[in-house]
Amino acid sequence: MDATAILSAIACDEQALGFMEHVTRHVSSVQDYVLQLLLEANAGTDYFQRHGLHGIPTKEEFRRLLPITTYSDMEADFQRLADGDESKTICAARVLEMLTRKAPYASRGKSLQFFYVRKPGITSGGVTTTSGLSGYFTSPAFRQRKLDPESGYTSPDQVILCVDYQQASYCHLLCGLTQSQEVVSIGAAFASTLVRSLKALKDLWQELCVDIETGRVNDNIVSDLSVKHAVNALLKPDPKLAALVRRECSKSNWRGIVRRLWPRARIIQAIVTGSMQQYVPAIDFFSDGLPIASSIYASSECSTLGVNLSPVCSPYDVRYSPFPCFVYYEFLPVSSSSSSSPSRDDLVQLAEVELGREYELVITTRAGLYRYRVGDVLKVVGFKNSMPQFSFVGRAGVLLSVDTDKTDEVELHTAVTTAAAVMAKRNRGDVRLLDYTSRVNLSSQPGHYVVYWELSLDAAMESMEAELRKCCSVMEESLSVVYRRNRREGSVGALEIKVVEPGTFDRIVDHVVFVGQGSIGQYKTPRCARDPAVLRILESSVVESSRAR
Ligand code: AMP
Repeated sequence: MDATAILSAIACDEQALGFMEHVTRHVSSVQDYVLQLLLEANAGTDYFQRHGLHGIPTKEEFRRLLPITTYSDMEADFQRLADGDESKTICAARVLEMLTRKAPYASRGKSLQFFYVRKPGITSGGVTTTSGLSGYFTSPAFRQRKLDPESGYTSPDQVILCVDYQQASYCHLLCGLTQSQEVVSIGAAFASTLVRSLKALKDLWQELCVDIETGRVNDNIVSDLSVKHAVNALLKPDPKLAALVRRECSKSNWRGIVRRLWPRARIIQAIVTGSMQQYVPAIDFFSDGLPIASSIYASSECSTLGVNLSPVCSPYDVRYSPFPCFVYYEFLPVSSSSSSSPSRDDLVQLAEVELGREYELVITTRAGLYRYRVGDVLKVVGFKNSMPQFSFVGRAGVLLSVDTDKTDEVELHTAVTTAAAVMAKRNRGDVRLLDYTSRVNLSSQPGHYVVYWELSLDAAMESMEAELRKCCSVMEESLSVVYRRNRREGSVGALEIKVVEPGTFDRIVDHVVFVGQGSIGQYKTPRCARDPAVLRILESSVVESSRAR
């Protein structure tokens, strides 16, 4: 970099920092301004008129007249947009694309990012539907970005845009390995995708080594022509690298494999908060403790909702900053969000949230979502100037209930991770929980909670059944007072843990992707399995089970 470039980069950074100081000191006025812009931009929409807002609504009218909404309240409007209705339904601008429920981020050097897109859908009205992440990768903003040969992704765009997960996954690994000396960061949108991709390396390294040695991609695995050409253009025969990969991958201990194969990698990038936290031990294992940057909190409803201003902090201390210029934020205190119809009077503004309290996030966006419940619970854990900062708590709502007990995702997650930690300690770390889900079994009385666990066993356990029984008790002790009372009184039966065979959760992802219910890049294991096909996969894979006494 020459002196002029350095000075210009510094000026750019100073400008960004100055902007950050400004918006975080004036949270309330920036939010007022954002709301005013939203209301002006969408004046005259059907949605406003239906709610008695004519002309440009005032902030006071917005507060008084617009209800809190969820997906089902908006479904008819979304359907009109999908049908191609070009009138001003919920927003004044023409809708070109609809995002159906991530965003990338990436130092000098290349980044091996396991990004995947899914095939876009098309509504009867001709509107494209896609996921947030897929939408970004297929957008002109991504395709026409300035390319820098010394940075950017190891995979060519054709690989990122390949809708066949198996081919894309293989090529991400191949391109990442062949440029291993240039890779400074490794990641995926979500931690689950990263762990799945690294686990795939265990199955694929032999084929990958042949391709590295010959400089040609395996035709049996990669059949997509554009992908094959793009990857072949990057390859040249490299027997030395192939030998190194073979040596490292054939070792029985895979701890630190990331550092051994990508020696310049300095950081892991993936969302590891909320339910993704369970993947931190696996990432630590593969990377031997490289720092993990969990940089953003985002959703398809509005792209970025919060950024982590200390991206390399411990994954357990991540706090997201909702910059007041991103969107118009409101918050439902958790006690009122759990009532079936919370009142708009319960909503508090961004500048009004209190330290230590939990809130459900409600947003108003330029694209026509008004007072919309995103479904996430956030906790206020600090402030940057007057801008609150949040930790991600989990999804709102109840997951499991047999009687009057109501167990949400956060309670279940705490119970599962507490029990798994006890089991790991009793077995000197030879056993780790890889993934889990749950359901309620009401087929026998009283009904009971069933929790499915997939484990990684580095050594056989002496008595798995007894260990699991112990874990069932630990989980029950960790659940709510109401759950424990119901158990004592007999209205809820003993909790059951069922261990499923290795690879079961991968088969579930394959199924979900295959039937078009999700995209690999955005897949998050549902903590309560309701889909009969998923339940069939789980039940047919059970290898051991046990119940609390
Ligand atoms: P999607 O709409 O499919 O893009 O998924 C958005 C959802 O993913 C959010 O509403 C959250 O539930 C979850 N999510 C996104 N970012 C994070 C994060 N940083 N930590 C935990 N969960 C997240």
